[in-house]
Amino acid sequence: MPSNLFLHLPDGDADLSSVYESLQRLQAPPSYGVGDVFPEAGELAGLFFGDSGGDDTPAETSLLRTAAEQEFADTGYSPYSFLRDQPITYGGRETFDVQAIRRDFPILHQKVNGKDLIWFDNAATTQKPKQVIDAIRRYYESDNSNIHRAAHTLAARSTDGYEGAREKVRRFINAPSAEDVIFVRGTTEGINLVAQTYGRKFIQSGDEIILSTLDHHANIVPWQQLAKERGAKLLVIPVNDRGEVILEAYESLLSPRTKVVSFAQVNNTFGTVLPAKTMVAMARRYGARVLIDGAQSIPHTPVDVQELDADFFVFSGHKIYAPNGIGVVYGKKELLELIPPWQGGGNMIRDVTFEETTFSAPPHKFEAGTPNVADAIGLGAALDYVSRTGVRCIEKYEHYLTEYAREALGRVDGVRLVGNPRERVSVVSFIIQGMPVPEVGSLLDKEGIALRAGHHCAQPALRALGVEATVRPSFSFYNTTDEIDRLVEAVRRIAARG
Ligand code: PMP
Repeated sequence: MPSNLFLHLPDGDADLSSVYESLQRLQAPPSYGVGDVFPEAGELAGLFFGDSGGDDTPAETSLLRTAAEQEFADTGYSPYSFLRDQPITYGGRETFDVQAIRRDFPILHQKVNGKDLIWFDNAATTQKPKQVIDAIRRYYESDNSNIHRAAHTLAARSTDGYEGAREKVRRFINAPSAEDVIFVRGTTEGINLVAQTYGRKFIQSGDEIILSTLDHHANIVPWQQLAKERGAKLLVIPVNDRGEVILEAYESLLSPRTKVVSFAQVNNTFGTVLPAKTMVAMARRYGARVLIDGAQSIPHTPVDVQELDADFFVFSGHKIYAPNGIGVVYGKKELLELIPPWQGGGNMIRDVTFEETTFSAPPHKFEAGTPNVADAIGLGAALDYVSRTGVRCIEKYEHYLTEYAREALGRVDGVRLVGNPRERVSVVSFIIQGMPVPEVGSLLDKEGIALRAGHHCAQPALRALGVEATVRPSFSFYNTTDEIDRLVEAVRRIAARG
């Protein structure tokens, strides 16, 4: 049974060489290796004891855990384990504990079709912790007001909440300024905003827009519409049979005609992580602008828009434990100043006469009308929650769940995994021979297991790997290996019938 042990470091300045020395003294079972250290993640920095494919028993891992507790007793570093998802408390301090995390998500604790609900539809949307639900309730119970315009106390509180959420987004994605962060409804609206503003202003007849085969329809249709309108051409980066983009082919598509490159950083059907930074740098050499669709990357991997050097980065709140109806477009300041507003109306103007209107500076220029204040505040609370849990820890834990699921599902007779990208997160796609995908979905629903069975709004990606539809469990840090075991058992029964 694979198992992993983490070690929380109390701050980013931990003496890592002494930590390593202590780890050597642990005499861990041979199948353990000491993995990555994440000193940058602040309080929740972790140290990863990666399972290296061994067949560790719970007793072995338990021994290692006890040894780690003793070794680090005086340091304040807290070891914790993912072993069978058992919580570990250390020195009276709360550590990453999947059961404690699950208690924060009220919706998970219900029966569906007589069985404990298992939510494996996280790539479609994530569930909300009570901290997010409470933040929204508090807002409506005590602060609700329109913002900016009205000069009274509740308006000031609402404005502070809304702008405070913008600052939280800025910090989360490391944007240079909160003014570079525009609130929209979600990824789809964000991509449409960029296509309709930047695209309409700068794309001319004969220009080229490069997308990836792995893109969600949300990153295809708006560019297709724009290309039709402007007489521009769409070019598509092909994929190999693992479900990875072929960089050499991308290189050969780039040219001085390339005006925009737009792609999903993480694909939603196979979980492929694209080499976004490299792809941005390649586009730069031709002077192209780059939009990154971060819908699937933001919940699973650390995002630093300055490091990525993208011109636009777009994501949806609901994929990262925030409410529906709120999302973000980050744009480089010089571009946001250059491009025209999208929609016109209140809130986005400096002065209006019937002859002429002058517009506010970004981001307000792009936020016409009364904004979604409550859900922006909910998004801020969700990002706080994720940051407190630790983005690096989340990434590692979800990687562990994904590999666990791939391995177990791949061993079931009649199951074919679809896609095998080397860099991947959180998604497994499969089909069962002789069983229609929708039927598998509804049989699993009868077992209380919610997942996606269909084309996942990414038909070109699936077709590139020779299928029209797959069954797609997708994981979050509130999922457990016990839940995956239940899925695998159910899949085994279904496959045996098929
Ligand atoms: N891009 C990707 C990669 C996605 O996975 C999704 C949602 N499945 C979207 C865009 C669209 O997001 P939304 O529906 O929240 O606008």
